Amino acid sequence: MEKKNLDWSNIGFSYMTTDKRYVANYKDGQWGPGELTSDSTVVLNECAGILQYCQECFEGLKAYTTADGSIVTFRPDLNAERMMDSAAWLEMPPFPKERFLEAVDQVVKANAAWVPPYGSGATLYLRPYMFASGPVIGVKPATEYQFRLFVTPVGPYFKGGAKPLTLCVSDFDRAAPHGSGHIKAGLNYAMSLHASVLAHEAGYDENLFPDSATRTYVEETGGANFLFITKDHEVVTPQSGSILPSITRRSLVYVAEHYLGLKVTQRPVKLSELSEFAECGLCGTAAVISPVGKIVDHGKEICFASGMDEMGEITRKLYDTLTGIQMGTVEAPKGWIRKIV
Ligand SMILES: *Cc1c(COP(=O)(O)O)cnc(C)c1O
Repeated sequence: MEKKNLDWSNIGFSYMTTDKRYVANYKDGQWGPGELTSDSTVVLNECAGILQYCQECFEGLKAYTTADGSIVTFRPDLNAERMMDSAAWLEMPPFPKERFLEAVDQVVKANAAWVPPYGSGATLYLRPYMFASGPVIGVKPATEYQFRLFVTPVGPYFKGGAKPLTLCVSDFDRAAPHGSGHIKAGLNYAMSLHASVLAHEAGYDENLFPDSATRTYVEETGGANFLFITKDHEVVTPQSGSILPSITRRSLVYVAEHYLGLKVTQRPVKLSELSEFAECGLCGTAAVISPVGKIVDHGKEICFASGMDEMGEITRKLYDTLTGIQMGTVEAPKGWIRKIV
């Protein structure tokens, strides 16, 4: 198999049409067989539930070329399960886990030429998603759905080293206490765009969304979970029912405990205690961990001891260990790596 002729280290993070994607349709109360297709377009009825009432959820994961030349994915079973949870919450028929895993294998295999080579820093991003394809005009769940999975190669997230980010505490709410914050759905992103554009215009990299009820606790950024390190090297992650359960964060917590021997606590984290932490990072599939150097809370600057030049010491260890597991240079816990080719 010959790789596509791309400048792998410089492809950035944008959509590229690849060779094959997977499609399955839900109709008459069941999921149809599903197949790979070369057609990258979706044709929908004008009244499709996704277009009118936003019934949609998605996932994001990556395929990597490991040091020994294999192509693998990282914990895709957790993406499958999380997507089933998201779908159920949106009154959509969950796409079965085994079929999700098969779709991942099929699409990655069919696009093996698009999987960036080991050492390039680039990876293959997988985007599974499902939406209401059947028409609905009265507000209710649709009766027809489509599951799709496409892939696109993405460049190294940190070109020329990880620069710490500056965040601002947002005046907008991301998720209500008993709302949709814990599911991975496009609707949570649509309403975050305004806050995100304003933050960027004001010179910030991301928003920190506090809890909507009291605005005193740290939730997440709307695309990544927080991870803090105390001065005594304890790992702290915020607890809340409206945070999306990041697979990267859960994996880093395991790495902290079982590989680095660190104490980990998951608990509500107050905005007022941020200045007591030594390091701060954002966890998600795209970057694994992005270091945060500064958080601005309405004019008050909270600067982490790790500074604005590089990742903190513990953040770096967590990052190196987890990316080592993904790239096959550090032994993985049982069941974390799914070999495809
Ligand atoms: C996807 C996502 C994350 C990160 O989750 P990972 O499984 O680590 O990629 C965090 N927050 C939100 C809102 C998300 O949608």
